[in-house]
Amino acid sequence: MSKSEQLSARQKAHKAKMAKHKSKVDASIAAAQTERGIALLMTGNGKGKTSSAMGMVIRALGYEQKVGVVQFIKGAQDCGEGNFIRTHCPAVDFYQMGTGFTWNTQDIESDTKAAERTWEYAARMLSDEQYNLVVLDELTYMLGYQYLDKDKVINAIEKRPTEQSVVVTGRGGGRKLRAVMDTISDVKDIRHGYRHGLKARKGVDY
Ligand code: ATP
Ligand code: MG
Repeated sequence: MSKSEQLSARQKAHKAKMAKHKSKVDASIAAAQTERGIALLMTGNGKGKTSSAMGMVIRALGYEQKVGVVQFIKGAQDCGEGNFIRTHCPAVDFYQMGTGFTWNTQDIESDTKAAERTWEYAARMLSDEQYNLVVLDELTYMLGYQYLDKDKVINAIEKRPTEQSVVVTGRGGGRKLRAVMDTISDVKDIRHGYRHGLKARKGVDY
């Protein structure tokens, strides 16, 4: 077979494969008919949960949507996304718990109070239909450590305005939370530089 015949055969096979794929994609698109906000959980042990949520913040802002971001745990240390949102995104309502990691604070009472105070911001956003997207970063740990009442949190997520999407990040999450999420992504840890000595990097890790 000449080179041009080989190319033409490849093109023909590719076209047939793509046509088959297109009909599958078209059928899936046609089958998905419900239009409403999506509840998304970004979980797993790998790196990329918060970064992914921040990507969705940018995506929503691209349509001038109203966004709320509540970061549990964070705020005690510098973090690039917080710096950026505070200085460049006046349209984003942003709140950080500000206590740092629970293994640093080592105080159940102050952590619970801080979590409750932070949750009030989240609850307000989840009951306000003006918000198109609400990000609840590291929320799963608040449930895992029982700083927040699981049922209260799940109820607020379930009862949020129909058009509002919510992104929850953090490892675990528990069966009950998972049951009310529409989309769950498990970021798998294959390798993390930290474990072979790489220091956390400004602009990459924080
Ligand atoms: P990122 O904020 O980078 O998207 P993440 O939200 O998936 O990470 P977290 O558990 O919130 O992960 O941890 C935040 C910090 O911990 C980041 O500095 C991140 O690089 C680091 N980290 C994430 N996954 C791992 C891991 N498997 N091993 C060690 N460090 C990790
Ligand atoms: Mg995170």
